Amino acid sequence: MTKFFAGAAGLALAAALAAAPALAHDDAKVKTLLAEANDDASASGDGSLKALTFGTWGVDLGARDTSVKPGDDFDKYANGGWFARTEIPADQASAGVDYDVYNLTQRQLRQLVTGAPATSQVGGLYQSFMDETRVDLYGNVKRSAAFEYAYALSDLDKPVDRKKWSMNPQEVNAYNGGLENKIVFPAAILQAPYFAESVDDAVNYGAIGAVIGHEITHGFDDQGRKIDANGAVRDWWTAADAKRFDEQAKGFGAQYATYEAAPGAFINPDLTMGENLADLAGLEVAYDAYHRSLDGKEAPVIDGLSGDQRFFLAFAQAWRDKARDDAIKQQVASDPHSPSRWRIIGPLRNVDAWYKAFNVPANAKYYLKPEDRTRIW
Ligand SMILES: [Zn+2]
Repeated sequence: MTKFFAGAAGLALAAALAAAPALAHDDAKVKTLLAEANDDASASGDGSLKALTFGTWGVDLGARDTSVKPGDDFDKYANGGWFARTEIPADQASAGVDYDVYNLTQRQLRQLVTGAPATSQVGGLYQSFMDETRVDLYGNVKRSAAFEYAYALSDLDKPVDRKKWSMNPQEVNAYNGGLENKIVFPAAILQAPYFAESVDDAVNYGAIGAVIGHEITHGFDDQGRKIDANGAVRDWWTAADAKRFDEQAKGFGAQYATYEAAPGAFINPDLTMGENLADLAGLEVAYDAYHRSLDGKEAPVIDGLSGDQRFFLAFAQAWRDKARDDAIKQQVASDPHSPSRWRIIGPLRNVDAWYKAFNVPANAKYYLKPEDRTRIW
């Protein structure tokens, strides 16, 4: 999936933790340095370690702009109030859920390492880094690279370790490991607004459910179809299925080619094809799963919203993001994921249930005739 930026600070810390030797340290000096570091942490943000809260049952009703019609701009309908009151911090390329959860996770990680006892491996390593007279940043970076290289080489000729992840637990992200036929959701993404035990089921299905569906779908998209159940690179589809898939994918890509993400920057449908398809199928799979969970019963109405309305609102709010034009232009040029706004609108307008949930009329801006909606699986 790789929906977020890499989080350089977190990666650097993790690499350092993995590579640096434990050093003896002067406890008094370390305590002072730790206190200073913690002061810095509380001064640079709100310092809270609590998960984000979206309303009382998982959707931030005040973030909507209900003057916008859902079919004209569902991103603004779901997030317009929040757009109006949100400024992008000077040190960030965008503001939104991904940065908020990323920043929260960095604070959580910091507490884990600063709170670990000095006698533990993590605590000892962290405190040794805080000893400025002994720390050797340049040397650690070199040792880190040497360690990673040796670690990768040590896998040669060994059986595949299917439990090994290519992401850290603190990464707000998820992926499909095609060669191992697995999907991975690190701890950091299993937090609100993606997932919370306390919220309405429709919200969890619309948010983390669509992410899980997205990752499953990568096993069946333009790349996954070339890897079989054992992780061997082998196209396992019939020629007729592949032909039908390519035709549908082409029409879907043509929709994305019309989306101007920033002035003069249109989405490149070829670059983003696999991710766009995973977004669409992931949403559909999550919707089906939500209805299966209802087991034929009618979902309750909450705050005047039906279960389906809450499902689609949660989906859109989990993707809310306000980015600078330059950041969007860079993303469109280089990232296989479409900008957040189009990860909301792009899939939704192909889903019949979304039209029904919000009574989207034929004259709405993003209306598609039923026969023009992409249906692949
Ligand atoms: Zn993906």
